[in-house]
Amino acid sequence: MATGLEIITDKDQMRKWSRSMRAQGKTIGLVPTMGYLHEGHISLIKVAQKHTNLIVVSIYVNPGQFSPSEDLSTYPSDFQGDIDKLKVLPVDVVFHPYNLYDYRDIESESKCNDPIRDSSGSESGDTGVVSCVEDKKLGHETWVRVERLEKGMCGKSRPVFFRGVATVVTKLFNIVEPDIAVFGKKDYQQWRIIRRMVRDLDFAVHVIGSEIVRDPDGLALSSRNVRLSPKEREKVCLLLLV
Ligand code: AMP
Repeated sequence: MATGLEIITDKDQMRKWSRSMRAQGKTIGLVPTMGYLHEGHISLIKVAQKHTNLIVVSIYVNPGQFSPSEDLSTYPSDFQGDIDKLKVLPVDVVFHPYNLYDYRDIESESKCNDPIRDSSGSESGDTGVVSCVEDKKLGHETWVRVERLEKGMCGKSRPVFFRGVATVVTKLFNIVEPDIAVFGKKDYQQWRIIRRMVRDLDFAVHVIGSEIVRDPDGLALSSRNVRLSPKEREKVCLLLLV
């Protein structure tokens, strides 16, 4: 049984924890999730356990992968229920950031000294004031795209989904600095995209794909399944038979 599960919400604190553990010679496994945990997520933790000394589970509903037509606010969540499940597992940290995208506070506090272009297109060089003001309005504007793999299958109906996934996983890798990260093959395209991203961008993270966990009726476990009516569920299971 795990003892002393730590909940970290601040990204600097998360990075500090990882670095201090690495300095002690420990290895770190990351299991990224959007919460509302089920046996599918738990299976990833069990896989991570075979490879590393310490396990970080991130719980973050990533706004970057929802399009305006998908409702981020109704994504199922039960943070306390998740913690109760993780407490009895060999999980050391739950990384639960409030927001990984909004930099406005940081930018209004910081002095932006980069030689950047102002709105007239000239190099502002010394102060960068104009650009800082513009960035305040823009918030986040840097995305990671795995250009070919993101286009097929689910990418056809969800055009911003995979750039959101690749970007948030990049952020999590930069913050947690894990040795390994485990992803479910249930989201097969996502797993392949992350593997390609890691290879193309030389991340020092070993990505492991974990097998699908299904309900007895054959449906893959998913946090979103709670939204299926019994009829819809029956229909999906029939589709699995054809
Ligand atoms: P999610 O919280 O849905 O973003 O999923 C977090 C991670 O858990 C992803 O790597 C998923 O592929 C994985 N996962 C979700 N459901 C399952 C499942 N039924 N079997 C295996 N892995 C899963």
